[in-house]
Amino acid sequence: MDKIDMHIHGQFSSDSKQDYRKLCQKAIEKKYKAIAFTEHFDLLNSDQQNYAVPVLKKYINCLTKIQNEFPGLKIIKGIELGEPHRIVDAAKKIFSDIKIDYIIGSLHFTKTKICVSDKTNNLMTERNLRQYYEETLEMVEAGNFDTLGHLSIYKRSIFYQQIPCGKKVQHIIDEIFKEMIKKNICLEINNSSFEISCPTYLPDPIYLARYKELGGELITIGSDAHDLDFFDKYYERTLVSLRELGFSHLYYKYNGVWDGCNI
Ligand SMILES: [Zn+2]
Ligand SMILES: [Zn+2]
Repeated sequence: MDKIDMHIHGQFSSDSKQDYRKLCQKAIEKKYKAIAFTEHFDLLNSDQQNYAVPVLKKYINCLTKIQNEFPGLKIIKGIELGEPHRIVDAAKKIFSDIKIDYIIGSLHFTKTKICVSDKTNNLMTERNLRQYYEETLEMVEAGNFDTLGHLSIYKRSIFYQQIPCGKKVQHIIDEIFKEMIKKNICLEINNSSFEISCPTYLPDPIYLARYKELGGELITIGSDAHDLDFFDKYYERTLVSLRELGFSHLYYKYNGVWDGCNI
């Protein structure tokens, strides 16, 4: 069994101080084959665009050094791109100049200004829920990223018990999955939710079973770790469930190609 983690934050994300070398060291100890650092990259205003490019160049140069220091580990240079469908032209311009190996597309704020990733204050109504999935569909239709990050992230809220069940949006979720399968966009299994006592990874097994039913096989795993202790913590717990659902492989993108590993 090869282990991978395709969603890790480090010292270039404003909400993490994680040292890359320490994380790589732990990845080797825990027998990982590939890991992706995926620093936050948000471009929704032009100030941020000016600021972001030099930082991105520094980040890439830093990871090139780290890659050379850990030849036994596949270290993937990635970013977590916020709201990619709303910054299509800016992103195209930046990434034609700077080579990024791996892009997670994540919806953190909807156009209607709902912060869906807030862990502590997130009371979703059915209306908000519908807006979130409709905008996720829009994002997947626009494409230009490799993996859809943390679908249904709002369930990570400490109020998850009060969240509407989502049956009314199932038809939108189906459209999201069909579009992803058509475009070969990977579905991330994000297990950061376990840390907040949420009983499941995201998207939860019911959605995941539906993805499989529609023909989806391309899945990956992301801890979304912002610190060392969290990395690898819920890996085995997540795999047990994925196996039960009938998945046999996880995928990682390396040198522009998707590669599978047994689970
Ligand atoms: Zn995120
Ligand atoms: Zn993240």
